[in-house]
Amino acid sequence: MSYTNPAIARKKTVTVNVGHVAMGASAPIVVQSMTNTDTADVDATTKQTAELAKAGSELVRITVNSAEAAKAVPLIREKLDAQGCYVPLIGDFHFNGHKLLSDYPQCASALAKFRINPGNVGKGKKRDEQFARMIEIAREYDKPIRIGVNWGSLDQALLARIMDENAKLAIPKEPRDIMLDAMITSALQSAEQAEALGLGHNKIILSCKMSAVQDLIQVYQNLAERCDYPLHLGLTEAGMGSKGIVASTAALSVLLQQGIGDTIRISLTPQPGGDRSEEVVVAQEILQALELRAFTPGVISCPGCGRTSSTYFQQLTQDIQTYLRQQMPVWRDQYKGVENMSVAVMGCVVNGPGESKHANIGISLPGTGEKPVAPVYVDGEKTVTLKGDNIATEFQQIVEDYVVSHYHDS
Ligand code: SF4
Repeated sequence: MSYTNPAIARKKTVTVNVGHVAMGASAPIVVQSMTNTDTADVDATTKQTAELAKAGSELVRITVNSAEAAKAVPLIREKLDAQGCYVPLIGDFHFNGHKLLSDYPQCASALAKFRINPGNVGKGKKRDEQFARMIEIAREYDKPIRIGVNWGSLDQALLARIMDENAKLAIPKEPRDIMLDAMITSALQSAEQAEALGLGHNKIILSCKMSAVQDLIQVYQNLAERCDYPLHLGLTEAGMGSKGIVASTAALSVLLQQGIGDTIRISLTPQPGGDRSEEVVVAQEILQALELRAFTPGVISCPGCGRTSSTYFQQLTQDIQTYLRQQMPVWRDQYKGVENMSVAVMGCVVNGPGESKHANIGISLPGTGEKPVAPVYVDGEKTVTLKGDNIATEFQQIVEDYVVSHYHDS
């Protein structure tokens, strides 16, 4: 089954194949990410792409902004393939995409999709010519495109035209509504233009990214009503840390719950020196929390309170969570279904045993004043009581034994 939450009926969209990854219709919602390395730096971009793929990114977008970057793309593809990393690469083009794709056919061939921002294709008469050239190359290499409108680079000529038309109305619309209309019109008109140039209907994905949650929701609801292209969701420029995570989650959850969205990306600003893969983890967590997909065994843990003054259970929760996530690149292939496993780590016996019984495996650590023992439940039955200094190691072993014995080797 492609998605697991029966409460969510996906809006019907056509299927678009991006390399070996299917998107839209009944395909699972795809997790994407984007590198922030200089694409011309082949080693750095290969390394980060492989890390994002290992974290679970199913498509990785890379900037293609210069001749050096375009030359690097086939080398990056080659290096990834050599290490067994077949994640499809998407080229992100602005301003000079028509030229780079024309001048570097190996780049066009190595990419699985082209992202075209209609606001950054060119000005005036050149805009149509340059757009047409990119579509011609997409057709020649049989590649799908994403028409990715971004409100920070909205097609100004289009916006000016819509504003002029609005000014002639008896009751003109508010500037915000005009902006939202222009986003949608830009995406739909560009798609129509691409099809008129001969690109297949099943070769087009749309996105209209904005940075305000309510705007994004309104635009995508409208877009989903008006077309059946697969939609790429993402709150652009979401921000850093909890702000970016919460804003992205708020926006995407509303849309996903309404069945809107075939692929997602979380545009977090990384902390200095932070891990780029965080955006992949957040995307997976959103889909998993909505029960749309499962990626990693879930850890249920209590917040702690005055009944547990020790940080031991916080540490154990963190260790188990890290351990499960680190195991997934290997377990994903070896143990089918392991991503649906749940593990409870609780701080005391108030809710500990009850919550543990609902999980596949659960442990209740001793709260303040309780006997220093930790009962473990497996599939609802108490199997052992751990004590002493090795509770964490012994519990991890129980989890591992459970995985090996309960999930099929493929
Ligand atoms: S399970 Fe125990 S430690 Fe955790 S929040 Fe509840 S009462 Fe507090």
